[in-house]
Amino acid sequence: MLERIKKYRTSNGELEQARVISLFSLVGMSITFLMGFIGLFGDNTTLTVVLFVASFVYLLAFLFIKRFDITVSANIIIYSLYLLMFYLVFSGGVSQTGPLWIFIVAPVSVYVLGLRHGVISLFIFLCTICIIMFLPQQWVAHAQYTNEFKVRLFISFLTLSFLSALYEYSRMLAFKNAIEISKQYQQLAMRDPLTKLANRRNAAAILEQEKARLQRNNEPLSVLLCDLDHFKAVNDKYGHNAGDRVLTELSALFTEQVRKQDCVARWGGEEFLIILPQTSSEQARIITEKIRNSVAQHTVNFLDHNIHITISIGISQLSEDQSIDELINTADKCLYQAKTLGRNRVYP
Ligand code: GH3
Ligand code: MG
Ligand code: MG
Repeated sequence: MLERIKKYRTSNGELEQARVISLFSLVGMSITFLMGFIGLFGDNTTLTVVLFVASFVYLLAFLFIKRFDITVSANIIIYSLYLLMFYLVFSGGVSQTGPLWIFIVAPVSVYVLGLRHGVISLFIFLCTICIIMFLPQQWVAHAQYTNEFKVRLFISFLTLSFLSALYEYSRMLAFKNAIEISKQYQQLAMRDPLTKLANRRNAAAILEQEKARLQRNNEPLSVLLCDLDHFKAVNDKYGHNAGDRVLTELSALFTEQVRKQDCVARWGGEEFLIILPQTSSEQARIITEKIRNSVAQHTVNFLDHNIHITISIGISQLSEDQSIDELINTADKCLYQAKTLGRNRVYP
C-alpha cells in the first residue's frame, strides 16, 4: 500500500488520491454521525456509541490528511471501516440490516489499497465475515441470519468485489497509459525530432538554470553558436534528405566532443548552440577548435555521395549582469565575424 500511495504522491495522481480519501472520510463521518444521531431515538445504545466513535475516527482521518500523510488516513479509513462492518454483521445493526453495509468495503478497498493489496484484504475481510456469521451461538451470542441470506450475501459480495477489482485494473491501465503519453509529450516538447537534441526552448530553459546556479557559485559559463557553412548548397546539390543526414551526423559528432555536463541543442535550422558550464571563453576556445576541426575532417556518406562540410563558431562567455538574450546576441555577432572572416573558423 505504501508503494501505491508513494506512487501517487510522486505523480499528478497524488492530489486526486488525497481528494478522494478526504471525501471518503467526510462522507464516512457524516453518514455514521447521522446514523448515530438517529440511533439516539432508538434503544440500541451500543450501536449508537459505535457509530459516534466511527464518526470521530473518520474526522481524525480527515484531519490527518491535512496535517500528516495520506497513508495514515488511508489506513485509518480502511481498518476502521472493516471493524465497523464486523460489528454491524455481528450485532445485526438495526432490524438485522447491518450486513447490507458491507458492500461499501469492496470499491473502497481496491481504490485505497490498490489492486493486489485490495483483493487480498477483501479475501481476508470476507473470511472474517463468514467466521462471524457462522460462529456457534453457544460460544458467543450474535445476530442470526438464514443460510439462504448468508449464501446470497456471500455471492453478491464476491460479484461486487470482482467488478470493483476489474474497474480498478482498467483504471490503473488508463492511469499508466496517461503517464506514458504525458512523458512522450514532454519529450516531444523538449527535443528536436530530427536530431534528438534539446530544442531551442529547452536550451533557453537550461541556460537560465545554469546561469542562476553558476553565478551563485561564481563560476564561468560559455556558449558556442555553430552554423554550418554554405549548407544551402548541400541541400541544393544533394537534396534535402542528404542535408538532414548531415544535420544528424554532426549532432552526434558535437555530442561526442563535449563533456557530460555540457548541452548541445539545435538552436535553429542549421544552427547549434553548445552550452559549456564552468568554462571560461579561453577554455571554450580549445574545445571549439577541436569541434571545428573534427567537423572539417568528417565525411558524411549519403547514398554514393561523400559530403564535406565546415562550420563557423561564435564564442561568448556570460559576464556579470548580462542576460541570456545578450549572451546569445554576442555569440551571434561573433559567429557573423567568423563567417565574414572566411568561414570554417572560430571567433574570437
Ligand atoms: P552560411 O555559410 O552563410 O551560413 O550559408 P548557408 O547556406 O548555410 O545559410 P542559409 O541561411 O542561406 O541557409 C541555411 C539552409 O539551411 C537553408 C535551409 O533550407 C537549410 N535548412 C534549415 N533547416 C533544415 C533542415 O532541417 N533540413 C535540411 N535539409 N535543411 C535545412
Ligand atoms: Mg544559419
Ligand atoms: Mg549556414
